[in-house]
Amino acid sequence: MKVEFVDLAAQYKEIREEVDAVIADVINTSAFIGGRYVKEFERRFAEYAGAKFCVGVANGTDAIYLALRSLGVGAGDEVITAANSFIATSEAISQTGAKVVFVDCDKETYNIDVSKIEAVITGRAKAIIPVHLYGRPADMGAILKIASARGVAVVQDAAQAHGAEVGGVKIGAIGDCACYSFYPGKNLGAYGDGGAVVTNDEKFALHLRMLANHGRKDKYDHEFEGVNSRLDGLQAAVLGVKLGRLDGWNERRRKIAEYYTRELDGVVVTPRVDEGVKNVYHLYVARVENRTQIAGELKERGVSTGVHYPIPLPFLNAYKYLGHRPEDFPVSHEYKDRLLSLPIHGSMTDGQVEYVVEALKGALKKFPAV
Ligand SMILES: *Cc1c(COP(=O)(O)O)cnc(C)c1O
Repeated sequence: MKVEFVDLAAQYKEIREEVDAVIADVINTSAFIGGRYVKEFERRFAEYAGAKFCVGVANGTDAIYLALRSLGVGAGDEVITAANSFIATSEAISQTGAKVVFVDCDKETYNIDVSKIEAVITGRAKAIIPVHLYGRPADMGAILKIASARGVAVVQDAAQAHGAEVGGVKIGAIGDCACYSFYPGKNLGAYGDGGAVVTNDEKFALHLRMLANHGRKDKYDHEFEGVNSRLDGLQAAVLGVKLGRLDGWNERRRKIAEYYTRELDGVVVTPRVDEGVKNVYHLYVARVENRTQIAGELKERGVSTGVHYPIPLPFLNAYKYLGHRPEDFPVSHEYKDRLLSLPIHGSMTDGQVEYVVEALKGALKKFPAV
């Protein structure tokens, strides 16, 4: 049997007729930039994410960058984020001219360790970017409390967390805003790049929309210089079709995660499950010893796996200039060689899910933790 890590071809088979029809309609009506599909998707995605407003942008990295810019973040400021993320999070901070301040991750959730945030907040801090890593919401209660006490904004990196909730509330409803990516492999993915910012703050949304569209409200009436970062009509049309299926696909991911955890608990370290936290399992990340051998053995058996992420952000060459040492981020450092992402997506069959468990158990027998 073969199990792909992400299987967008299988997903397309489920939605082919609808997708082909809307793509043809975008082309027939020349609704390429702006237009009915973008407007309709923004309206529906705001509602889905639990917010009043949604601004479609070109990609998830831009979503974070534009959100920070619209909050007035720039040179001389500091923005705090998690050491364990994809580089897009910290790139967006640097793009504004602000300084990136990393915080180590929690031992059990792999999200930003909220007990270590206070220690790095200075008078220059303007925002915190919690990353809802692997689809699991960060500890938002604690983060919002720290942020409001210190007068800093909360910009959520929700690129892996479409549909996630805390305490029964969609994450788009909390903080200053939530930033999404529609990169093809995300829980809600376009057929190219795309992103969005959702917020309940109308003024912020209006400013962000102008910033993303050359600083204009009307065609040639530019209030300031912005950038060109728009969600295009073809992507919005595809996303609109997929949005109708997202809850179903997320539910399927959660069922697969439940099965993995039931079968693998005690064999590997499975993701922690907390009351009141709705994880949408963008990734199912297990902790193992002998990761290289186990991933190799799984590959032999036809199962693709991933590593998210092999090098914590502070240790990348890109951030050498910050002069961080392993002991500054002990948890991220300790786990960087142990985290292994198993295949999980909405189109996996029961047979595939069971096969992954059998293959992993076999690999662990061959390479036991000692
Ligand atoms: C995918 C991702 C992004 C960036 O999204 P793009 O659309 O690829 O720019 C940002 N943060 C995290 C955590 C991501 O996984």
